[in-house]
Amino acid sequence: MAATKTEKYAVGDKLQMMCSACDTDTEHTAQTVTKLGKITSAVCDTCQTASTFKSGVKTSVSVGSKGKAAGPYDRHKKYRKGQAMMHDKFGHGEVTAVLEPQKIDVLFGDTTRRLIHAQGSAS
Ligand SMILES: [Zn+2]
Repeated sequence: MAATKTEKYAVGDKLQMMCSACDTDTEHTAQTVTKLGKITSAVCDTCQTASTFKSGVKTSVSVGSKGKAAGPYDRHKKYRKGQAMMHDKFGHGEVTAVLEPQKIDVLFGDTTRRLIHAQGSAS
């Protein structure tokens, strides 16, 4: 008889999960949990975006081998090395380097392109 181990969480517990705003795995803090210890909402420690859960189970979306969900490229958004994006013209890309506060190198297929990011965040 194999005993099923259920993980129980409490409010304030830390967990690593995918943040749709950060487009990467970040540390989250549990905001609300059920009586059974299942997380129903958690807030990203990096961007403060709240994620909600249905049935307390995080459904993982596997995209390719890395399992990263690529959000659309947004020049106002701040990117970090390793983040994935979906560009209008160039398609799926991944940030290979942050050159300057507002310039990033992004690899699309086998071509690296220089894009701007975090625009408007500095005066
Ligand atoms: Zn986040």
